[in-house]
Amino acid sequence: MFEVIYYVMLVVSLSVFFYGLWQKWKFINMGLKGEARTSKPLERLWFVVRDGLLLVRLYLRESKMGLSHFLFLWGVVVILVNILIFTISFAIPDLFRATYPWLKASMTAAGVMILLGLAIAAVNRYVIKPSRFAKKFEFAWDDNPVLAIFILAALFGFLLKEFVRFSELNSTALPYVLWFLHTALILGFIALIPYTKLLHIIAAPINIFTRSERKPGVMREPLGEDYTGAITPLDLTRRDLLASLACMRCGRCQDICPAANSGTTLNPMFLMQNIRRLEKVLLGKSKGNGSEEGSEQEVQNPEDILLVETVLDEEAVWACTTCRACMEMCPVYVEQMEIIGEMRRGLIESGETPPDVRDFLQNIQKQKNPWGEGKFKRDQWIKKSEIEIPAVKENPEFEWLWFVGCAHSFDNRNIPVARKLARLLNDLEINYAVLGREEGCCGNDVRRVGEEGLFQVLMEENMQTFEKYGVERLFATSPHCYNTFKNEYGGYEVKFILEILYDAIKSGKLELKYPINKRVTFHDPCYLGRYNGMYDLPREILKAIPGIELVEMPRNRERSFCCGAGGGNLVREYPGEDRPNNIRAREAASTNAEILAVACPFCMIMLEDGVKAEKLDDRIQVLDVIELVYESVYGKEE
Ligand code: SF4
Ligand code: SF4
Repeated sequence: MFEVIYYVMLVVSLSVFFYGLWQKWKFINMGLKGEARTSKPLERLWFVVRDGLLLVRLYLRESKMGLSHFLFLWGVVVILVNILIFTISFAIPDLFRATYPWLKASMTAAGVMILLGLAIAAVNRYVIKPSRFAKKFEFAWDDNPVLAIFILAALFGFLLKEFVRFSELNSTALPYVLWFLHTALILGFIALIPYTKLLHIIAAPINIFTRSERKPGVMREPLGEDYTGAITPLDLTRRDLLASLACMRCGRCQDICPAANSGTTLNPMFLMQNIRRLEKVLLGKSKGNGSEEGSEQEVQNPEDILLVETVLDEEAVWACTTCRACMEMCPVYVEQMEIIGEMRRGLIESGETPPDVRDFLQNIQKQKNPWGEGKFKRDQWIKKSEIEIPAVKENPEFEWLWFVGCAHSFDNRNIPVARKLARLLNDLEINYAVLGREEGCCGNDVRRVGEEGLFQVLMEENMQTFEKYGVERLFATSPHCYNTFKNEYGGYEVKFILEILYDAIKSGKLELKYPINKRVTFHDPCYLGRYNGMYDLPREILKAIPGIELVEMPRNRERSFCCGAGGGNLVREYPGEDRPNNIRAREAASTNAEILAVACPFCMIMLEDGVKAEKLDDRIQVLDVIELVYESVYGKEE
């Protein structure tokens, strides 16, 4: 009798489960093929073991949740194995008889592991309440039911075990009721997997297996010549659709996102959840006006649906600072930022560019800088400088091209930094030259805004200029230029300026003799840190300056909070109620540091602005690491 009930329940559960999986499979296959993601399968498998089974990536981001998930995951695995053995044992009773004591012990251990894992998760969610849970996705209905199913299943399992231990099995119907409830809940859990966030149990390992091999600094290449970015759901890749199923709504990306923290409509977690909700549309099950299946209205054609307004609104698409923090924090390698990048490409291709973004692009196209300053003014900072700064024509035998960049050429706060650097370079006898008026925009942020065509033009122009002067090695003073030259141009030896200064300090050529007796905190620029992994080097330079006490902000290195300038936002009026630079200025001041050190001209502009806006300028000063090195080498300028 029990066997029959059990098999019926099992068949129902597995049928519902596999039907759901089949629907998800069809959903994923509606996407475009995208870049190849199956090369080096052994290495990929290692990542699945490390981050999918041992949960190392999650543990490194939040140790207590890493532990909670580890206990839970392995508890569930043990139970599933036991269910399999149990199912076979009904048909062949003697096959596993000798192992029953072990199986019983393993079930108890699994129950304890699951309850412990759930207890940690529940305390975290309902008592500690980390900020990542602050914004809830409105269509998320399954958080509490999923938790309740597990707690009840484990509870009934324990009660059943204790009852059987202390009572006569046939004396009452209670053990049978407990058995039924326990089994129904576990099989119900299996059936629910494809329809709830539990699907990440299956989708996340596949998402981890298909992680991109591109370096963080390289954007996705457009998918062929006809590809015009992500405009409708059919322009998303299979991996993007899969990633929406792997997202477990943990909130880590929304918690670190500067746009979400600033109160804009951008939320990378909502983006992924909204993509997941496209399933009905893509499978032809959704009717017009959001009405449900079965109504009289026409089935919505996916080609008629625009991603903008469906998964993100327009404000959100442009609010992304391309800081990469969402991707860095995601335990399962979702590529939220790259999807936004494709949506930007789509908007640009459709001619739906907002006026301020259009101005930014036109300024760069015409004048080769984001502010639209005349391009003939690019070398004025050199002409007005008392320090000799050789141009390529004056020093044709140069070893290094110094690519100065737009901000150090045009921005009043950054020009003095460039002049100080020139003096340092001259005294170090580095054989360099600059392009002066012939320097263009590197195109890093143009590409991140989604204007691929203009990026290609800028890259070609720059490479022609480099060829004209025989450039083989170059160093950049902006992490944005550094990123694109190093990762996207190819064919040159590229350094960031701090690497050159650090080498000079290490070799003793640059003597840091004047102490700076100040408390300093360092803000990691996104394009240096998350994009290129350069976290230690600026800190090593600061530590080498006598007198400096280096203190860290609560969010540093991989978790650094963006200043808000990237992705074209440097010259835009940022839409949020609170701006990322103001938030970061407050965070820096909270360390009681007297100096906020930066290593990017965009961060300099944004954070100085933030410090002033927050009226913190009498407490904390924003200085470039180059300025601190200069002060330690030559003494403080009066
Ligand atoms: S890249 Fe930065 S700003 Fe853009 S969605 Fe991710 S965290 Fe938010
Ligand atoms: S996209 Fe990644 S980090 Fe964001 S909520 Fe989903 S799983 Fe968490």
